[in-house]
Amino acid sequence: MDTEKTYTLSDLKLWDYPGTALAVIGQPIKHSLSPTMHNAAIHQLTQKDTQFKDWAYFRFEIDPKDLPEALELFHRKGFLGLNLTVPHKVIALDLLTAISDSARTIGAVNTLKWTAAGYEGFNTDGYGMAQGIEQGLGRSLNESNILILGAGGAARAAVVECLSQEAASIRILNRSKDRLDTMLSSLSDFEDSKSIIPILAKEDWTHLPEAGICINATSLGLNQNDPLPLDMALLTSNWSVYDMIYNPKETQLFTEARKYGCVASTGLGMLVHQGAKALEIWTGQSIDAETMYKAGENALYNNLNQ
Ligand code: NDP
Repeated sequence: MDTEKTYTLSDLKLWDYPGTALAVIGQPIKHSLSPTMHNAAIHQLTQKDTQFKDWAYFRFEIDPKDLPEALELFHRKGFLGLNLTVPHKVIALDLLTAISDSARTIGAVNTLKWTAAGYEGFNTDGYGMAQGIEQGLGRSLNESNILILGAGGAARAAVVECLSQEAASIRILNRSKDRLDTMLSSLSDFEDSKSIIPILAKEDWTHLPEAGICINATSLGLNQNDPLPLDMALLTSNWSVYDMIYNPKETQLFTEARKYGCVASTGLGMLVHQGAKALEIWTGQSIDAETMYKAGENALYNNLNQ
């Protein structure tokens, strides 16, 4: 089996890899860094413990309409772990045997673990973001004032993590009211949800704290010509800026934030740490995220851009 290849549902039907298989599934999936990062970590684990020598991590392009059939097949073929990415994170919820509390609150799963009865779902995005912020900005969410840009799946994971880590305050800025309202109502049971301040327009900017962490969880920045998700003049240089986007390496928001004197980072650390946590869930071992980071960084910024 080739871990560089992109497999399909037809390949899955004929799947006969004899070792322990893991995979990321999505659509599109061809450019996912997950196989490179995970196989680097598995290689390192194997050097310490030979039980991992037949483990391998693959990629599958699966259409959302085929997800029920695919998950049933992955389970039957014994895939120990799956990572889910766009567009499967929410639609998979109805296909699982068990769901962790935080994944249920977020309303999305990115990590599945095989059990005899079916797959159990987790969400490691919030954990990955918190680690990425600590690594990239040297800041902790705890007792920080947070400004989250966006109200999609990644923003929901971010808000739940900020609530769990007892951020001092959480402001959420989103373009569309509907999505912001849906997010707020799904979080209303959270004990500390009162600390959330929704923002839809400039008029809503009141009492923005002197310092905090601004997190971009919109898709603005993926394309070179995208406008900035925030007018940087609204923040003082005491704010730190974390852009979840990791390709390009230096997004416009990152560059502008640095110009304004803010500490800033893009999102590769988040991607790495959500993956490392997933591998911990599957292996029961502690994972060296640095190995995954180097593999991801090399594939993304060195090899592909040459
Ligand atoms: P979703 O599609 O669920 O949400 C997209 C968000 O972006 C929405 O809030 C949407 O606002 C907003 N948005 C989109 N276009 C515009 C625009 N033109 N102007 C203003 N707002 C806009 O995506 P995800 O939550 O899954 O992902 C968000 C980002 O986070 C992506 O860039 C993704 O690459 C990144 N990400 C990074 C991860 C990492 O590991 N580093 C992990 C997961 C995601 P509206 O509601 O108004 O449509």
